[in-house]
Amino acid sequence: MDRDIETLKGVGETIAKKLGVMGIYTVRDLIYNFPRRYEDYSVLIPVAKITPGPVTIEAQVKQIKGRYVRRGLHITEAVVSDKTGSVRLVWFNQPYRAKATKTDSLYFISGNFEMGRGKQAIMNPNMELASSFPINTARIVPVYRETKGLKSATIRKVMANLAEDIDKLPENLPTNIVKEYELSSHVQSLLGLHFPGSTNEIEVARHRQGFEEIFALSLAALLVKKENDREKALPVPFQEVLARSFVKKLPFDLTDAQRKVIWQIYKDIEKDKPMNRMVEGDVGSGKTVVAAMAALMAISEGYQAALMAPTELLARQHAESMYELLESVGMHREVVLLVGSLKPAEKKRAHERIASGEAKLIIGTHAVISEKVDMHKLALIIVDEQHRFGVEQRQKLQKKAGHMPHMLSMTATPIPRTLALTIYGELDISLLDEMPPGRKPVKTKIVSPNEKARLYKEIDTELERGKQMFVVCPLITESDTLKTLSAEVVYKDFTEKTFKHRKVGLLHGKLKADEKEKIMSEFASGKLDILVATTVIEVGVNVPNASIMLVEGAERFGLAQIHQLRGRVARSTEQGYCYLLMTDSSAPTRRLRAIEQSTDGFKLAELDLEIRGPGAIYGRSQHGQLDLRVANLTDVRLINAARSAAHDFIEKGEKLAKYPELAAQVKENQLVTSLN
Ligand code: ADP
Ligand code: MG
Repeated sequence: MDRDIETLKGVGETIAKKLGVMGIYTVRDLIYNFPRRYEDYSVLIPVAKITPGPVTIEAQVKQIKGRYVRRGLHITEAVVSDKTGSVRLVWFNQPYRAKATKTDSLYFISGNFEMGRGKQAIMNPNMELASSFPINTARIVPVYRETKGLKSATIRKVMANLAEDIDKLPENLPTNIVKEYELSSHVQSLLGLHFPGSTNEIEVARHRQGFEEIFALSLAALLVKKENDREKALPVPFQEVLARSFVKKLPFDLTDAQRKVIWQIYKDIEKDKPMNRMVEGDVGSGKTVVAAMAALMAISEGYQAALMAPTELLARQHAESMYELLESVGMHREVVLLVGSLKPAEKKRAHERIASGEAKLIIGTHAVISEKVDMHKLALIIVDEQHRFGVEQRQKLQKKAGHMPHMLSMTATPIPRTLALTIYGELDISLLDEMPPGRKPVKTKIVSPNEKARLYKEIDTELERGKQMFVVCPLITESDTLKTLSAEVVYKDFTEKTFKHRKVGLLHGKLKADEKEKIMSEFASGKLDILVATTVIEVGVNVPNASIMLVEGAERFGLAQIHQLRGRVARSTEQGYCYLLMTDSSAPTRRLRAIEQSTDGFKLAELDLEIRGPGAIYGRSQHGQLDLRVANLTDVRLINAARSAAHDFIEKGEKLAKYPELAAQVKENQLVTSLN
């Protein structure tokens, strides 16, 4: 399975390189590169019975010839026939066709029969010599992901050469599980996906592979949990008087949800078993104060706490918030900011304050905190805008500190329950499912291209009032294939035309970190009126003065993602506006209507999961992504079955090492999920 694909028959250097582009390097990668879809060409019909649509025939080639119609357009035409009649075949730009085809030989031919302007033909058919093992025709033909210069047909051929090897693979799940859950065998399912004999076979195979995926994911999570439960943490006792006086001095009343979550956290950190908890709450639900209250207990006990943010800017904002919040109980001097851009003297001073124990709540970016801090007394780590803290990072910290810190992660991405239980099975989850009172729901509107000009006028009035606007585009630069506007194009239009009297900034992922920070802080401080960006702003900063979120090419975003973006302008009691710009008037708006009508992040996330699959929620473009190949995360029965199988596996004390293929999968899951 770990063999390089170049060792395979039919895979030379060129093909190997192209497969590499798609992330396929080993035989295992190849085998798990399941078809994206299938074309059913399994039913052979007589030529006389051909009707428009996909057809497969077995016929003799009577004549075939190719010619250039004009420069760049080559046409090959053939006539083939069987006992019942003959039919025309047409290929575009396949000049090799005619030479490669033997007249009078019997071929399988599969393709779409089209009737156009009096001319009828099977267009661009697949064709191969009739045999008992057809690859591209006369069967349910798998369609694989393609890349430039690598066609599905090539992958089919490589897979065909591999079929015998697949047949010899051992079972990779415990046999009692295969039996109990009535799964098809490992081999059956792999063959069923790559060489299906029927559509039913595909379904059965998918079920088994989906089970396996969820099983491995659950196992990965459960093993982490088990390991975590064995670790020792510093118990942080609950001090009621302190908590009460902190709450009393807040400028607002805590929501019931905040109270509940804070209580869950206090219960956890009292124990010497490390907490591993994720707080899920929409943007603006008030996670910061929850973090502050957790940190408060730890530092007042004389321990250290760390608050890690994904960006420096966010870290700075957190430091300010924490300073303000803790001032009321006289603990603000314990806050220290640790980010890369501090001047050497400032940095030195920060480290001194940490070393002397004067500063105990360390706020910064991941890298800075985990590398340079003396962590002997680190009792609590809070990670903001992250789903979890990676396994490896945890192990590192544990080694450094001599104990395992309590972990609290906070995320604004609503994650549907089934998904959360599966991929975050090692975490306890708290929901902040209530917004502070007085928030006005963001006014959300779908806007078609012809309404744009009027909208821009409306927006300018709002900007004139001193408000600010985010603009989010699906792409950085122009693309030939996608018609939607890129951030660069919008930026150009705004600065040169539409909003040339305003100050406009451009922010995207290709900028260097310090450039990003600079532009972001200019926007945050009000120096810029408009920030044109890609989704990099999704995770983020608090700019209460920004009241407009404009989403270009809205149909290209997931619902959960738009909801996240919208949250950026829902942070104060002022009215926020979210405009969803469609690329063209005919673009599908049905899905987006849901977001016009609902402000419930969880509901939208569920819907997203149903429509787009888990990658959409998890952000497939970033690393740390969850890349489920087959499992359908809305299939609750499958998920429950696979999870309970994983529980049994652990309970029975089964050894993962006995199942090397499974172990590899589990390990991969732990790596993937921990990068994030
Ligand atoms: P997020 O969950 O997005 O991190 P924040 O913690 O930044 O949200 O809170 C958003 C705003 O709401 C802040 O200005 C904060 O002071 C305020 N806030 C938090 N909790 C409450 C509450 N219970 N009542 C009123 N305002 C609150
Ligand atoms: Mg926050």
